[in-house]
Amino acid sequence: MASERDYYTVLGVARGATDAEIKRAYRRLAQQWHPDVNKDKAAPERFKEISEAYQVLSDPQRRQGYDTFGRAGAGADGQPGFGGFSGFGDIFDAFFGGAANAARRGRPQAGADLRYDLRISFVEAIRGTEKEIEFAVLDRCETCGGSGAKPDTEPITCPQCNGRGEIRNVRQTMLGQMVNVTACPRCKGEGRIVETPCETCKGEGRTERRRTLRVTIPPGIDEGHQIRLSSEGEMGPRGGPSGSLYVAIHVTPHPALRREGTELIYEADVSIAQAALGTRLTVPTVDGDEDVDVKPGTQPGTEIRLRGKGVPHLRRSGSRGDLHVFLNVVVPSKLSKRQRELLEELAAEGKEPVSDNGAGIRERLRDALG
Ligand code: ZN
Repeated sequence: MASERDYYTVLGVARGATDAEIKRAYRRLAQQWHPDVNKDKAAPERFKEISEAYQVLSDPQRRQGYDTFGRAGAGADGQPGFGGFSGFGDIFDAFFGGAANAARRGRPQAGADLRYDLRISFVEAIRGTEKEIEFAVLDRCETCGGSGAKPDTEPITCPQCNGRGEIRNVRQTMLGQMVNVTACPRCKGEGRIVETPCETCKGEGRTERRRTLRVTIPPGIDEGHQIRLSSEGEMGPRGGPSGSLYVAIHVTPHPALRREGTELIYEADVSIAQAALGTRLTVPTVDGDEDVDVKPGTQPGTEIRLRGKGVPHLRRSGSRGDLHVFLNVVVPSKLSKRQRELLEELAAEGKEPVSDNGAGIRERLRDALG
């Protein structure tokens, strides 16, 4: 677990810092503390903390959430089901040209994955919906078409590695040949070098833009689920493939219904008289209100099941859970004089001894004295 220091303190910026200031601060600190560079024992933890702070503060929505609610509002504490997105390394690579990731030698590196936190209503989660989202993303530079080279110029083949993106050192040892392969330091493994950078993107091949997308939310989705939209994340530098966009779903609770997987639960209060004599209840369902008969003689805790009124299965289309109505028989804690008389009469009818408490005596006394 990273420390609980304030993200602004971690990056050493003011709360009102602009996006550019945050980016600069992150660039500087991440270079200083990257564990490949900094051999201090605290470096990995420090680097993680810096990356986490930047992930939140660089995303306008998460930053707003953090400013208002702290870490809980920034979605920083790993929602359940939040898999597949490691994040920190990807952000670093996107910034520094992949020197941190030797596995990507010789080809353009991929852009970072992005996360978008989307809040939907309880009913939308069950019935499914479509939402329009807007977010900032590093996208192909329109001036240079993504190459990073100034128009009318071309990136050249790296002369140090001849475009391979890696340097091989072959040594003869007692055990035979040893080949040591490292990323070319000149082109940082890309195999090509931009000699005359595009002025719009400074040779990055990408610029920050706002993108609008329509996202289809399938019926049955739940809190903490994620929808992955491949290739909707950041574009890699100089034409590298795009990362994924993960839309993390948050569901606003319903005032009366509770959800457990595909089942919905509704608790209804009925009076002693309603339970004994029967009644008709109005139950809220996601398809509108429904009238439900409560049979005479209903016992506390009785369950009435509305089949197929629950949540659709995400993976089995056409199949839906149930809505369970639990009846809670409420015993009145305060009685009007008339109610007391009627209940006493009821008890007398059934020859049930009941306590004759002070209130009852005083009332009768008062009545008698008129
Ligand atoms: Zn450009």
